[in-house]
Amino acid sequence: MRFGFRIIWLIGIIAMTLTMFWEAPAEAMTGRPLAVCITPSTPGLTAPALFRTPSRFDCATPQWHFGSGDYWVLSQILPTDLTGAPELHARTASVWQYRVTLYVLYADGAIRRTGFTSRTAGRHLRIGASLSLTLPPHAARPVRLLWHVEGAANLRGVVLGASLATPLEAAESEKWLSALYASFAGMAIALIVYNLALWGALRQSFQPVYCLLVLCLLGYAFSSSAALGQLFPWLDNNIRLRVNVFLLAVSASMVMIFARAFFERGVFEGWTRRASNVALATLATTSVAFMILAPWQIYWLDRLLTLSYLPLIAMVPPILYRAWRVRSNYLWMFALAWGVPIVFAGLRIAGALGLLAWSFWIDNSTMISMMLEALLSSLAIAYRIRLLSVERDEAREQEIAARLLADTEPLTGLLNRRAFLDRAIGRPGDQMLLIADVDHFKHVNETIGHDGGDEVLRVVARVLRNAVPLDALVARIGGEEFAILVDAATPVLAETILERLRSQRMPFDMAITASIGSCTGPLLREADWKALYRSADRALFAAKGAGRDRSRDAGMLPIAA
Ligand code: GH3
Ligand code: MG
Ligand code: MG
Repeated sequence: MRFGFRIIWLIGIIAMTLTMFWEAPAEAMTGRPLAVCITPSTPGLTAPALFRTPSRFDCATPQWHFGSGDYWVLSQILPTDLTGAPELHARTASVWQYRVTLYVLYADGAIRRTGFTSRTAGRHLRIGASLSLTLPPHAARPVRLLWHVEGAANLRGVVLGASLATPLEAAESEKWLSALYASFAGMAIALIVYNLALWGALRQSFQPVYCLLVLCLLGYAFSSSAALGQLFPWLDNNIRLRVNVFLLAVSASMVMIFARAFFERGVFEGWTRRASNVALATLATTSVAFMILAPWQIYWLDRLLTLSYLPLIAMVPPILYRAWRVRSNYLWMFALAWGVPIVFAGLRIAGALGLLAWSFWIDNSTMISMMLEALLSSLAIAYRIRLLSVERDEAREQEIAARLLADTEPLTGLLNRRAFLDRAIGRPGDQMLLIADVDHFKHVNETIGHDGGDEVLRVVARVLRNAVPLDALVARIGGEEFAILVDAATPVLAETILERLRSQRMPFDMAITASIGSCTGPLLREADWKALYRSADRALFAAKGAGRDRSRDAGMLPIAA
């Protein structure tokens, strides 16, 4: 139940994080959105002519319906409250294209242009993968924008997420997105370092896989945020997009590979393992094909790639079901860790298939789902480590119990004969051995029964244990025969032991006495033990013969020849 509580707490944190970013004003992220209309590029069309005939543009059909090619895209009339600003940025989402020329129509009728090619796009890339063009300075206000896009793959659109931003808005957007990506990068690096360090200690095979997973997510974030493009401005933006597509596929695959390494055996066995192999191979094939072949048949390659995420996603319910069947400890962790990314992936796939309009948020949702994925997986790891340590503690306790069981004698809990000899032989210095034998024990059994006799033996054992120092060895070496070994430097008086026995209250108030024979000598070898025991036993025999309830000491054994 404590676990259930933690999950609720976790969902709360996630919801808070999400709303924090959701609350961030969408305009600050994207600037002032601009409505755009499109027309295919045909020979002879010029910017001035197109500015004069806005009616020839199509504002209703989704852009991607037109397929790959060259296009003209016209913006709405620019909002007048913005156009007074000294410097304005026209921003669009970074998509596959070769050349973009932006024409700006000013209030005085002048037209100026700026632009970039995929090679020079790096200079205009902003965090969050938007391309920002500064409108050329001019005395009059800008009134309308017209993009000429050549070599557009037009997978989701030609000019996506067009917006106009003041320098302040642009800075604000850069700030928010840098914070988002930087927090992810920081978290990812910390998780990698931490898990690598833990791997050194725990040596669990899923740990390096997890580090690789987070590294892939970090790589994807790096390339998709356009930080890669900012760092290497000479990098062709279309190459960056290829790398990006590939890294996303690798990251998604790593999530599955991590689950395979992490879940208990039984979750990925038989058909789930084979099916996940097929899903992984499919995604690997289509992503490599996209990477190498694009822009050849880019429209179909992209559809194929998008669809090949589906088997991977489709694997999740059966895996969770299996985990539930084998009573996996990690079921809820994974259900949670996969939930959000899968919802986002679903939205992205719907977007990619044209079922949902492009949105800045869906486009950047990968970031948030990756953050959650990495975080929740790390919690799953923490939980797993907890289970491991519980397992280890239990094993250690069992081992201690087993060792104790092997060394002790079950009735009295004293050392058994073997354990006693193991510890006794080899003790340095002279040792004093006392053999105590309960008097007339047969009679005790006859009087109070065998169980009563057992109880007497337990009490006798306790008395003996308490009568000698802690470092003395006390063992039950025969039916009602006990051995005590102490250092000769701190001898125990046999008489003290006998006195304690006499005064001890016994079961059924029986009067129980014992006889003791003792002897002192070296105990370095097996032969020493034999000599010592023989003498002590002889002394015991003498004590019995002298009337019982007394002790006899055989004294010091001479050094063996
Ligand atoms: P003595 O004073 O000469 O030592 O007489 P005794 O009766 O104690 O000596 P003996 O060695 O003849 O008898 C020991 C008895 O102890 C025989 C056996 O039935 C009993 N005995 C041995 N082991 C156990 C045990 O674990 N429990 C009980 N209740 N009795 C035991
Ligand atoms: Mg006896
Ligand atoms: Mg005996």
